[in-house]
Amino acid sequence: MRKVHHPKIVQQSDRRWVVVCEDCERNEKSAMPIGINTPVNSREKAELMWENHCELRRSALRRGS
Ligand SMILES: [Zn+2]
Repeated sequence: MRKVHHPKIVQQSDRRWVVVCEDCERNEKSAMPIGINTPVNSREKAELMWENHCELRRSALRRGS
């Protein structure tokens, strides 16, 4: 069964941005991917990490792995 991830970009109270993924948090067996749950100073960086996380998902689907 394939896992579908739904990462979210949230702004912390210190105005930094963080990408969170409940699907990764639920998956206790595998490590948290780079960038997830890591606060960054710019929204652009957060959006990049968010895209990368979606990209990972898409290429995995394309390869069928
Ligand atoms: Zn995830």
